[in-house]
Amino acid sequence: MKVLKFGGSSLADSSQFAKVKAIVESDPAREVVVVSAPGKRNSGDNKITDLLYLVQAHIRYGVAYDNVMTMIRDRYREIAEGCGLSINVDALIDEAFEGVGKNTSVDYIVSRGEYFSAKLMAEYLGYTFVDAADWMFFDYSGKVKSDKTEAKLRELKGIYGNIVTPGFYGVYPNGEVKTFPRGGSDITGAIAAGCLDADVYENWTDVSGILMTDPRIVDHPKTIARVTYDELRELSYMGASVLHEDTVFPVRLKDIPVNIRNTNEPDDPGTIIREHFDDELEEETERFITGIAGKRNFSLISVYKSRIGEDKLSLLRKVLEVFDRYNIPVEQIPSGVDSFSVVFPSDSIKTRKHELMHELGDFEDIDNCALTEGISLIAVVGRQMAYRTGVSGKIFKTLGDHHINIRTIEQGADEINIMVGVFNEDFEKAVRVLYNSFAK
Ligand code: ASP
Repeated sequence: MKVLKFGGSSLADSSQFAKVKAIVESDPAREVVVVSAPGKRNSGDNKITDLLYLVQAHIRYGVAYDNVMTMIRDRYREIAEGCGLSINVDALIDEAFEGVGKNTSVDYIVSRGEYFSAKLMAEYLGYTFVDAADWMFFDYSGKVKSDKTEAKLRELKGIYGNIVTPGFYGVYPNGEVKTFPRGGSDITGAIAAGCLDADVYENWTDVSGILMTDPRIVDHPKTIARVTYDELRELSYMGASVLHEDTVFPVRLKDIPVNIRNTNEPDDPGTIIREHFDDELEEETERFITGIAGKRNFSLISVYKSRIGEDKLSLLRKVLEVFDRYNIPVEQIPSGVDSFSVVFPSDSIKTRKHELMHELGDFEDIDNCALTEGISLIAVVGRQMAYRTGVSGKIFKTLGDHHINIRTIEQGADEINIMVGVFNEDFEKAVRVLYNSFAK
């Protein structure tokens, strides 16, 4: 049994709805469908959820909102007509907005995007509509009540079999609607898959999975076929835009594979995310890199003290105390015999650069302290790198062969991540060179 979640771009209009139907019908195991609200049809378009936030603002300030409502109605009318549905869209929307006023919660109003979407999709697929308000339960602190939610969804699935349910919201104990944060339909999908012990959680979007590197730097990078949660975390921490691992926590807990798929390219296998892969594919063993991610604009403060010896620890502590006081997130601390450096995001000291250098310069036990700006950090991530000899050598040699100077080097304790710091000017070249050498 598979639980599928379709994002906004997969539901943007009737032609996208048709693709969803074809996908669902191509596999009888696709029994549970979680939907977002219709998203943008093109870059200049609006997401229904954004329009609903706008409606709510109009209501709050007592401004007429008919034209925004018309835009919303038109979107659902087009879907219903294009898909040949018999549902009366206007009656559906009128009923949901009956009695809505200044005191209506924002969560209720914005959740209607998913609600309407699910109503239409249920008719289109011939599945039963199950309202998220009937199974996704929050306590008053906003935490999902897992046991009650699971029991109810299992019960409803048992009664109705194939179901469509809206993402993004649930209800407080008093029945009032509460939404997840933006993008929260991913969470609904993961919770549904977890509750129902699905064999797989398919997350359908508009890309064919997670890319090995940034497509703005490398032309058409390959898709990652399989990635572990630990690798995913390293990649997203370093700036790769991937599904946030918190959102899939419920499926991770039960070791249900997450499969990211592309609604517009349904034959692409996408990316599978799991805790471990016991059967590494030959391709994965040969290619030891899973992905390459990076971020620009870090700074590095280097501290020198000749013959520092045993005092190094105490000096390091003092310097880090200053960083702590300035609230600067420390990224790396590469160190030598008589020196160490602290690497951190440049914008964390934007206005206090001189103040910080002045304070460190006043330290009696420092000979010299220098600030280097314009550093980029690049993370080379791969579970196949762990406990394997020669990997870092290959990476450094490749950068050296291409005349890229490495400013800092770091490897995580689990050896699935090697991070190098290079100058901003070399950032894109370094990513490209690493990708072309090891990821292709
Ligand atoms: N429609 C909501 C949003 O735009 C939730 C979602 O799509 O996941 O944030």
